[in-house]
Amino acid sequence: MKIHRGDNVIVLSGKDKGRRGEVVRALPKEGRVIVEGVNRVKRHQRTTQVRKRAGIIDKDLAVPVSKVALVCPKEHAPTRVRYSFGADGAKQRVCARCGEAL
Ligand SMILES: [Zn+2]
Repeated sequence: MKIHRGDNVIVLSGKDKGRRGEVVRALPKEGRVIVEGVNRVKRHQRTTQVRKRAGIIDKDLAVPVSKVALVCPKEHAPTRVRYSFGADGAKQRVCARCGEAL
């Protein structure tokens, strides 16, 4: 996937459309990402041996990576990702619009 943990993304569709957040976890096998504050749901949690507190907790569920776009740190706008090779031959991600390394 072109979006990694720690990236700032914007949601393109759904109930959190327009919301920005940081990717806290990337799930490449599922093609999904977990974004801070996006797809937040209430979960009713009962106590277990490891978790003594019961109650309603907020949890961020994974969203399809196709529903988010990377936010370019330079332009502060949603963009696509391209790959290029640096002077040392290393593969790097660049902004498809301004060419800034990501
Ligand atoms: Zn850019």
